[in-house]
Amino acid sequence: MNTMPERPTAASQQQQSQRPHAVVIGSGFGGLAAAVRLGARGFRVTVLERCDLPGGRARVFRQDGFTFDAGPTIITVPALFDELWALAGRNFADEIELRAVDPFYEIHFHDGAVFEYTGDPARMRAQIAKFEPRDVAAYDRFIASSKAACKIGFEDHGHVGFHRWETMARMVPEMLMQQAYRSVASLVGSYFRHPQLRTVFSFHPLLIGGNPYSVSSIYCLVNYLERAWGVHFAMGGTGALIKGLVSLVEGQGNSVRLNADVAEITVQGRRATGVRLHNGEVITADLVVSNADSTHTYKKLLPGLARRKWTDRKIDRARQSMGLFVWYFGTKRRYENVAHHTMVLGPRYKGLLTDIFHKHKLAEDFSLYLHRPTATDPSLAPEGCDAFYVLSPVPHLDSGTDWAIQAEPYRRAIAAHLSATVLPGLEDEVISSRIMTPEEFKTELLATKGAAFGLEPLISQTGYFRPHNKSEELDNLFLVGAGTHPGAGVPGVLSSARVLDEVVPHVSAFI
Ligand SMILES: Cc1cc2nc3c(=O)[nH]c(=O)nc-3n(C[C@H](O)[C@H](O)[C@H](O)COP(=O)(O)OP(=O)(O)OC[C@H]3O[C@@H](n4cnc5c(N)ncnc54)[C@H](O)[C@@H]3O)c2cc1C
Repeated sequence: MNTMPERPTAASQQQQSQRPHAVVIGSGFGGLAAAVRLGARGFRVTVLERCDLPGGRARVFRQDGFTFDAGPTIITVPALFDELWALAGRNFADEIELRAVDPFYEIHFHDGAVFEYTGDPARMRAQIAKFEPRDVAAYDRFIASSKAACKIGFEDHGHVGFHRWETMARMVPEMLMQQAYRSVASLVGSYFRHPQLRTVFSFHPLLIGGNPYSVSSIYCLVNYLERAWGVHFAMGGTGALIKGLVSLVEGQGNSVRLNADVAEITVQGRRATGVRLHNGEVITADLVVSNADSTHTYKKLLPGLARRKWTDRKIDRARQSMGLFVWYFGTKRRYENVAHHTMVLGPRYKGLLTDIFHKHKLAEDFSLYLHRPTATDPSLAPEGCDAFYVLSPVPHLDSGTDWAIQAEPYRRAIAAHLSATVLPGLEDEVISSRIMTPEEFKTELLATKGAAFGLEPLISQTGYFRPHNKSEELDNLFLVGAGTHPGAGVPGVLSSARVLDEVVPHVSAFI
């Protein structure tokens, strides 16, 4: 990191410093992808990351011989990575092995029923038949609807700027046809009658911070994304993708600076001119891209600016996504029968989601996602051991939960539940442990209210109504990442960086 091209000549140094300078605040997937794209277009790029590791929500914790990916584990739409590598003149497949995960998920219900979720239509029909034979015919119709949603929401508009209201207006007829005014849960309920199948096909918005009972049915697109492009795991862990992106940035002659905490975006008139770090260093730039949470960018990084749209009042009233409690742990044995991705669902679905998203109440029951990367890549743990993380969706910090007190009892309750279900004897097997609560999301990643996925993907906070990729407040300020269009999740934030190709002027405009 912080490397420059090998032995630069005086001429190449001069050429480099004459290129317009782009500063990217934050090294999440969105920030790194933005850096690669701007680098490919001829900008000199400096990525500034406040943490001592790159990756943001996708950074990597290493301890006791275990490698724990902090966040994303489900990688889909590999073409988005192929494209970034190609832009840097390299071949993704030569450097990173993505392995297809099968099944995508094993979903364990409270009553002991198990659904094996795959991308294979015949196997899916067989799984559905186990629960409700009359629902089998609904699967193909649901996937057709999910495919149409994917075309509208991802393929046609995921990488298009929504800074003009006409873009959204043009979508309205298609959105109506697609019944986008209904929630995911409502649409899924119109296809499947069995309550557990309704859960199986509606939980996906939770992967991007949305409540299936509130978000638009357009988010059924996630089901099709997985079906069409598969669910993959990067060998070496998701961190291998972050490491690869950093090496692309550096290979373009640009840099990723860690421990570089931006205090404010400097402004002249209504133009971003660079950034000032907390240590007082000022870095001038021709354009600034913020990959920090969008609401944090506006509320905290532009302190002196009279904001026209993203005022404190509007930000305080905006709905943030849920928080996550994540327990990373290593065991001294392997649990060979546990799948790579397992959902361990509690007794309640809608009620639990209401507690999390609306009542902001930490419930006593939970539904869990268990990640066992060593099912695919044993190198992530010492020999004979397993690396895991388990995450529980919880309310963001409006809940008033004192995590300094609650975290350990909550972790113990989760451990006991896993021990009683999919990981027998767990308490005696744990040899490495670390937790992350919404509090750390706030203090380390500067996530507003400790929310794990930025603004909740409600229709009132989507597209034109979400903070734009081309800032509404300042010239030469651009936003990427979960809190801007199109939204959270790795495909979403990589797509937000694609929007820069449209909204950032050609490099010659800055010379
Ligand atoms: C536990 C978990 C599991 C997930 N699982 C999946 C999954 O399986 N698949 C999937 O597709 N998605 C998943 N997601 C969602 C996905 O990880 C995120 O939406 C995505 O990684 C966010 O990327 P981003 O570009 O918005 O940047 P972030 O990861 O949010 O990074 C922003 C960076 O900006 C830095 N920053 C902020 N302010 C400043 C400042 N002032 N100065 C300098 N730096 C600053 C932060 O430190 C951070 O590093 C998961 C998320 C979590 C939390």
